[in-house]
Amino acid sequence: MKVSFYTLGCKVNQNESNAMLEDFCRHGYLPAGEEEPADVYVVNSCTVTSNGDQKSRKWLRRMKREHPGAVTVLTGCYPQAFPQEAAAIPEADIVTGTTQRSKVYEYVERFLRTGERVVAIEGHTRGETFEELSPVSRFAEHTRAFVKVEDGCDRRCAYCVIPRARGPVRSRPFESVRRELEALAAAGYREVVLTGINLSSYGKDIGSSLTRLVEESATVEGIRRIRLGSLEPDLMKEEDILRLAKVEKFCPQFHLSLQSGCTDTLRRMRRVYTAQEYAAVVARIREVFGPGRCSFTTDVIVGFPGETQEEFDATCRFVEEMGFLKVHVFPFSRRRGTPAYDFPGQICERDKSLRSRALGEVAEKVRAAQAKTMEGTTAQVLLETPLSATLFTGYTPLYLPVVVSAPGHKPGDLVQVRLGRYEEGRCKGEIL
Ligand code: SF4
Repeated sequence: MKVSFYTLGCKVNQNESNAMLEDFCRHGYLPAGEEEPADVYVVNSCTVTSNGDQKSRKWLRRMKREHPGAVTVLTGCYPQAFPQEAAAIPEADIVTGTTQRSKVYEYVERFLRTGERVVAIEGHTRGETFEELSPVSRFAEHTRAFVKVEDGCDRRCAYCVIPRARGPVRSRPFESVRRELEALAAAGYREVVLTGINLSSYGKDIGSSLTRLVEESATVEGIRRIRLGSLEPDLMKEEDILRLAKVEKFCPQFHLSLQSGCTDTLRRMRRVYTAQEYAAVVARIREVFGPGRCSFTTDVIVGFPGETQEEFDATCRFVEEMGFLKVHVFPFSRRRGTPAYDFPGQICERDKSLRSRALGEVAEKVRAAQAKTMEGTTAQVLLETPLSATLFTGYTPLYLPVVVSAPGHKPGDLVQVRLGRYEEGRCKGEIL
């Protein structure tokens, strides 16, 4: 039997899809090749934007049409946030949410036995613990492995449907993380990215902290680089910055969630920091790590309800001032069930896309300027996708993409390079 996964959304989703795939493989299934028909089709959905919901529905329709005999599964954030709507999708034979992922295989078997549709979307509860899934020891395309260490979010940002889809903060105990890291190291992975829904909240339910987790993870032999997923700026405390700076394996690329560079917009978004506080955290990290020894990447939402041209301009200026290496720009997506859905001053789609484009251009200039400051310096690169027998792409610890000719090397090798010019989204590197 063959199973095929279609994963939308964040790295946490990717990790969960890999874990579910491992589960199927343990029971004798094989992953279907790209062009190969499968017996089971699973979409692990994302509901951050309404576009994500639409993509899941479209994919299910197509799979049912092209493979009428196959079993189709809709799982993840979409059914969890909008259970009635998801349960009513006729093209899904099995519908589950973000709980009980470990049962997806079992539900498929039940469906194959009885032919009866399974709708099992269980609500999240206070005090629930982290759901252990099959440890993931292989990733389809990466030499970097994404390790899920946290789930859920206790915050209530006005635009975000995620707390509804993911429930309260639950942290994965280090012993379980260690087992996965050891398996990944044994499988040849050198870099791991610790991910979560609200990663900065890691540990609050189990008496630990993200900083401690990084320190503990650094003790695992074979893992050479540890990177973090998205962080909340207000949770980067002085002690954390000082302790992280002492962890040699820590990649000092801080993906600090911004969302807006204007304090008034941030207030309406119900974010818990001001633009000035955000800037102070960035400045302190730069001071502790040293100039050129850390980088900042972020997410920004444009076209939030009530965002005036002045507020948007303030965000553009802020992005320039912070010197981000990368900015992911998202047009505001109006999600049912969130406070921002009913906020006055909704911005039309055309203006949102104009602002997305404008901020994207600012971000690209800032990125090129940051890359220029690195020209001529040396950095370690983890070789990833081979472009030819000797040419590789890869990333530095600061997350600068590099193209380098490295004869005799293979994906997963760490090499020292001198960084050259930044062109067309990548930096040219020369192996030392
Ligand atoms: S911190 Fe805010 S934006 Fe992030 S997942 Fe939680 S509610 Fe959503």
